[in-house]
Amino acid sequence: MVQPRQDAAAPAAMVTGAASGIGRAIATLLDARGWQVHICDADAGAISRVREEDPAIEATVCDVSDAVSAAQTVVAMLEKTGGRIDLLVNNAGTSGMNGPLEEIDPEDWRRTLDVNVNGTFHFLRAAIPAMKRAGAGSIVNIASTAALFGYPNRSPYAAAKWALIGITKTLAMELGPHNIRVNAICPGSVEGPRIDGVIERDARTRGVTPEVVRGLYEGQVSMRRFVSAEDIARMCAFLASEEAGMVSGQIVAVDGHTESLSIPL
Ligand code: NAD
Repeated sequence: MVQPRQDAAAPAAMVTGAASGIGRAIATLLDARGWQVHICDADAGAISRVREEDPAIEATVCDVSDAVSAAQTVVAMLEKTGGRIDLLVNNAGTSGMNGPLEEIDPEDWRRTLDVNVNGTFHFLRAAIPAMKRAGAGSIVNIASTAALFGYPNRSPYAAAKWALIGITKTLAMELGPHNIRVNAICPGSVEGPRIDGVIERDARTRGVTPEVVRGLYEGQVSMRRFVSAEDIARMCAFLASEEAGMVSGQIVAVDGHTESLSIPL
């Protein structure tokens, strides 16, 4: 039976929220390129499926917004890798409510920031000391094109993703002298069930069909199509690689060039 890869010479990565979607694509690509891949996800059923389908990947149940669970997840990884964490990908995220700000449920606002921002903080806080000890490392925060524009009716998500840009720029400065690089990827709309859900909620808010909203989203992008999870994974693997050895503090959109996120209601 295939065991999680524990080759001390192989670089080690932690990818959060990686039992599905973009994170899963990142984990799969890193695994194919010889990394020791550790993932976590709050969805226990999805983690079980990863263990069955990808036994080379070390998969743990963890809600990133729980500071204790996040720290324990990183400690458990470091015990298995002999203290190595060459790459941290803060990918876990939640899309939050659609609607005018005054109609946003405060609990939804709190949860959106808790997962996207505080979850990233908890993993950074747990992982950075090991990277500093090694004198090397790379961090990739998965933001969104919502971190590049104003985004009407998505204020919790926009606030959370703009926060990740602030963290990325600041940490690139704090950690550069330690030979640790910090970058963010801003995916555009990615084909998959998550964007289908976003489109359905937006369609309900606007009182139109999901097909109309999909057309509006595609029309905002110069390439006139959505990106794939694999497009994001390839950029992440590049940013983690030696080829990107002098790339830090960068906010890289993988989105086919978003022209605007502003669609009038
Ligand atoms: P997804 O919903 O397919 O996958 C997200 C994963 O994160 C799921 O497996 C989910 O269980 C997990 N997760 C959610 N909350 C968690 C928590 N508290 N702790 C641990 N795991 C948690 O979404 P995706 O499209 O793969 O999104 C991944 C990242 O990319 C997110 O940060 C998202 O905001 C960002 N993003 C996505 C799109 C898109 O169009 N899909 C666009 C821009 C940015």
